[in-house]
Amino acid sequence: MKKINADKMLIVDLYSGEYAKKYIGHEDLNLDKNSIDGDFYGYCPPWDGVVISKLGATRNMEYIDNITIVYVRKKKGSNNREIIAFCLNARVFKHPQSGIDLNRFIDKDGDIKVATYSIKSDNMYDLRNRFNKFEIKIKDYNNYMFRRQRFYGGKYPELDKKIIYYLEDILDNKDLLDNDDSEEQEEIQMSEPANAQEIQDSAKKPLCIVRGNHGEIIAKNSKITKSALIASKYSCAINLTHKTFITKNGVPYMEGHHLIPCTVTNSQYFWQKFKKNIDCFENIVCLCPNCHREVHYGNWDGKSEKIKVMLKRQEDKLKSIGISITEKDLLSLYKQ
Ligand SMILES: [Zn+2]
Ligand SMILES: [Zn+2]
Repeated sequence: MKKINADKMLIVDLYSGEYAKKYIGHEDLNLDKNSIDGDFYGYCPPWDGVVISKLGATRNMEYIDNITIVYVRKKKGSNNREIIAFCLNARVFKHPQSGIDLNRFIDKDGDIKVATYSIKSDNMYDLRNRFNKFEIKIKDYNNYMFRRQRFYGGKYPELDKKIIYYLEDILDNKDLLDNDDSEEQEEIQMSEPANAQEIQDSAKKPLCIVRGNHGEIIAKNSKITKSALIASKYSCAINLTHKTFITKNGVPYMEGHHLIPCTVTNSQYFWQKFKKNIDCFENIVCLCPNCHREVHYGNWDGKSEKIKVMLKRQEDKLKSIGISITEKDLLSLYKQ
């Protein structure tokens, strides 16, 4: 996993400043893949350019590399900011660059202007569709934190820590989504089922966060998953006729999948919002290995169709423990 360094982090506030008055700004193109070279170019409100010395640059440098850029915007109906995107290993320029050869134009009241940029990266994690966005509660800091529409890592060390934790968790989710793979499935095969009381309590049990290979992860209870497989009579939630093979234990081989992915971020979100642990009986779907692989490794069209089918089957069970989630929100948890 890529480690994020607070000293090399720049938090940029989009869609405020001049933009808030006219709804047109150079930042309009910040999250878009450039049509010419496929990189991402970001505007940072000028205020005499980015102070790249705060990111570790020495005096003669015109730019600095390996910077983490965190884009935030004002949350609707509040002064707080929410993280909408970030990119890793960006190059940050001391002076805004023109970008005229990059076909980046904005229309200011019929006046076509070239959008300038100060940030360049080959990657972008767009979080606008995530429903549990990280929020910076302005009142906890000082009112001027975004006066220049940016601040640098190191200014608010406690906040840095929280932001980095959040971003690294997102980076880890990909690993985690792959994580209910071989090792975990093997454990489920060998596991005893949970008893009725354990099943009933599974959604109420506090989260069990442990250190994994790539940071913190949720320790899942394989007994609960085993019980979910038994309850589904070992039939695939996508299509009951999907056949596999018979295991050493004499039952069809099936795999357990957490419909709301059991990442640390998701688990904490559902714990805070619904007081529910998503490593619970009601959140576990029985899938044949083929469908399960597709949910993790398939292209978006096939994968999203399966997610929708699973939600239809599982919806009522989730509601029975007080969790409601829309199709759109669930899909956003699978989309990075
Ligand atoms: Zn899975
Ligand atoms: Zn299947």
